[in-house]
Amino acid sequence: MAHAEWTHIFHTEANNLLHGDTWHLEFNSSIEPEQPEYGWKEYIRNTSARFQCTQCRRSWPSNRVMVVFHMRLIHGKGTVKVRRFRQNCKMCTNAPMEDPSIISENITTLMKNLVKKIRIKCYNEDLEKGFHHPRRFDVKSPHEPEHCEACKKGICTRE
Ligand SMILES: [Zn+2]
Ligand SMILES: [Zn+2]
Repeated sequence: MAHAEWTHIFHTEANNLLHGDTWHLEFNSSIEPEQPEYGWKEYIRNTSARFQCTQCRRSWPSNRVMVVFHMRLIHGKGTVKVRRFRQNCKMCTNAPMEDPSIISENITTLMKNLVKKIRIKCYNEDLEKGFHHPRRFDVKSPHEPEHCEACKKGICTRE
């Protein structure tokens, strides 16, 4: 369900900008940040999202939600692997890691940034730096590094 929405928004944002090549996007939770496989380019972006604990149903917002993209273009076929970094509940013991729930507006922002990055990294287009910012949430409690996958990997945004 999330995947269909991401794919739809990606193709909408990529429309006519990716040189007529065919691109597809897939979720892949096994790609490693800062270690793209040979021939793959990387893009790491922060977004805002909500999480919900599947054990106690508690939910919380976060402005430090990392998304890693690995992309490759070969013979007119492009692939983007997407990994969304998870968080888990600080109240439950042995709480499972949860995927972020990202609103359409923020997926759109991520896809605009991604398409621009693909144009720069895979097509060597000379575009200006800068990126679109996500809609941020009102987060009251401090970020919890021990409950954040990206912090454990050392790639979480610093504020
Ligand atoms: Zn919980
Ligand atoms: Zn973190």
